Amino acid sequence: MNPKIEKLIKLFAKLPRVGSRGGQRIALCLLQDKTGRAAALASAIMDASENIAPCPTCGVLTDRGAGGCEFCRDASRANGQLCIVRDLSDVWTLEKSSVFHGRYHIIGGLLSGASGILPQDLNIATLPARIADEKITEIIFALPNTVEGKTTQHYIMSSVGAVDGLSFSELASGVPLGGDLDYLDDGTLTLAFGGRKSL
Ligand SMILES: [Zn+2]
Repeated sequence: MNPKIEKLIKLFAKLPRVGSRGGQRIALCLLQDKTGRAAALASAIMDASENIAPCPTCGVLTDRGAGGCEFCRDASRANGQLCIVRDLSDVWTLEKSSVFHGRYHIIGGLLSGASGILPQDLNIATLPARIADEKITEIIFALPNTVEGKTTQHYIMSSVGAVDGLSFSELASGVPLGGDLDYLDDGTLTLAFGGRKSL
């Protein structure tokens, strides 16, 4: 195989859920396309990777240097509610269901002894200052219902500690054990959010 094509296939194959067969299909599709899709894709990837960065406050990917993401700049979302999620795909899932209208805090992973993920690897240390600055009154945990999710939740609660006027809650049952928010349909998510339990 031509080394240039082989390199392309290998790069695509490493993307989530693609694999080597998928990588071949994508490479062939782009190389045989005559509408300029390969160039458009290359330029969109370059543009996004150079100009998109995590919001310094919450971690949502946004335009670099924009002074915060669309959620942190939206004053109507300063309602005292802060939803803690693992990654940006959870934010997208919650936004699609329109169940929540507060602000987010992406921690970027879960504590895990097996994978060696420690508190300092996650976006947790900035939480106490954020709670004070934004007058947060409720922290809603929307982390996976797994051992790692629960461990992370307990760690965050103990590191934030008791703050006057601050309560903690978690999504109600309906979140499948070991499940990610991605797999929930909007109805289940709305129920889980509406029936959230105080901690
Ligand atoms: Zn933000």
